[in-house]
Amino acid sequence: MAEVGTSGLVFREPLIFERSRPGREGIRMPAAEVPAVDDDRAGPDIPVASRRTAPPRLPEVAEADVVRHFVRLSQWNLCVDSVMYPLGSCTMKYNPKVNEWAARLPGFSRLHPHTPAALAQGALELMWDLERRLCAICGFSRMTLQPSAGAQGELCGMLLVRACHTDRGNPRKKVLIPDTAHGTNPASCSLAGYLTVPVASGPDGLVDPAAVDKAMDADVAAIMITNPNTLGLFESHIAQVAEIVHARGGLVYGDGANLNALLGLARPGDLGIDVMQLNLHKTFSTPHGGGGPGSGPVGVVNTLEPYLPVPIVERASDGTFRLVEDRPKTIGRMRSFFGNFGVMVRAYTYLLAHGPAELRRVAEIAILNANYLLARLRKTFHVPQDRPCMHECVLSDRDLKNETGVTTMDVAKGLLDRGFHPPTVYFPLVVHGALMIEPTETESPETLDEFVEAIEAIVAQAHSKPDDLHHAPVRTPIGRADETRAARHPVLRWGGR
Ligand SMILES: *Cc1c(COP(=O)(O)O)cnc(C)c1O
Repeated sequence: MAEVGTSGLVFREPLIFERSRPGREGIRMPAAEVPAVDDDRAGPDIPVASRRTAPPRLPEVAEADVVRHFVRLSQWNLCVDSVMYPLGSCTMKYNPKVNEWAARLPGFSRLHPHTPAALAQGALELMWDLERRLCAICGFSRMTLQPSAGAQGELCGMLLVRACHTDRGNPRKKVLIPDTAHGTNPASCSLAGYLTVPVASGPDGLVDPAAVDKAMDADVAAIMITNPNTLGLFESHIAQVAEIVHARGGLVYGDGANLNALLGLARPGDLGIDVMQLNLHKTFSTPHGGGGPGSGPVGVVNTLEPYLPVPIVERASDGTFRLVEDRPKTIGRMRSFFGNFGVMVRAYTYLLAHGPAELRRVAEIAILNANYLLARLRKTFHVPQDRPCMHECVLSDRDLKNETGVTTMDVAKGLLDRGFHPPTVYFPLVVHGALMIEPTETESPETLDEFVEAIEAIVAQAHSKPDDLHHAPVRTPIGRADETRAARHPVLRWGGR
């Protein structure tokens, strides 16, 4: 028998297969309404090699065992509904439950993607109106809602850049990327067939217009820039940088994953950005992480409009909505159907529930919260760019490591023992042992104080008992794992080897 002991309220959990007992049923299937098809009749359609010879090896368990198994496993994880989750660059804000209510309305959740437009007017109107609202927030003329996530939005945006330059006679060869860029940026450029050219940021942590000016030539298709950047700083030279790039025929791509800091305060279109992806699952709330789902709409200024993916939703003069495929200069489709519609419903609900004034408050409080943390943590931690930040702040383990040998990794693991999800670690790469903290607007001052106290306790422990921290976490079901080995040789069984 597999062991079902507990440690406090954390249950040990065998694999679901180990709970399997022959013949045990969790659910009874209703009788089929059509006659069973025997093997011989299936024969002509299904090749022999593809036919099952034995039933699938599925666990046979009772419904209660299935529910308990997965609920217990979920309790091994920290999540936004249980703790503060200050993962920088990821905007892990609380996701209002009203979004889930809206996404589950049967008219949305049960709508088949092949439903004719005439019978899907509500869904099309939602997409049309969502696009209008996002364009108003960002200062763009149109947007595609199709990409499945931020990174696919980047790829879509770079394909739009390529299509535009190709249309003008020369696709060009290179894309400039600041050294603080998110890892997906160079990857998206490569996929779109461009060479990436890194641009060093200046001593102030910002893109240096002089460096852009030097790198900018007739082979450069675009610059790809995140604002606020990954140091949590507003790129205050952005307008000047855009001018330099535009003057030599280049385009400006904005990575909009950090839009949480700009909502209602600045419109990327006004800053000189021509094309940008949004991460609906970050800024506009939707549970994410663990692989999805996401949604990465791409907004453009009017010069790039003709190349947008199809289909796009248009409103006819009689007020009805239709899907338009016939656009001669389109880059085509980024994926099947229309994108992750459920995420769009959540984002739309979030927009309507907040309204313009409150959206601005989202950004203001996100910025206030990050600066509050920065002001308190700079007393215990080295801050490489010690000045007001936007929605996230970046610390370095430089001093702590020199004085105590305790590293960013130890601090992150120590936070797990104190009931906090760690911040993003060792990114951006330009900062030694970076801790990138994004509290978001949804944390209360009390929670922020508790987080600071946890960090302070860890720093105190680093000075008194550094060795203990090298072994953290000790209160989680699994202790300090060898992460490389765990990724290459996963052992999924409790206590297994
Ligand atoms: C999260 C993020 C991305 C990628 O978005 P995904 O939805 O995870 O593909 C790109 N750039 C930045 C700055 C991000 O924070």
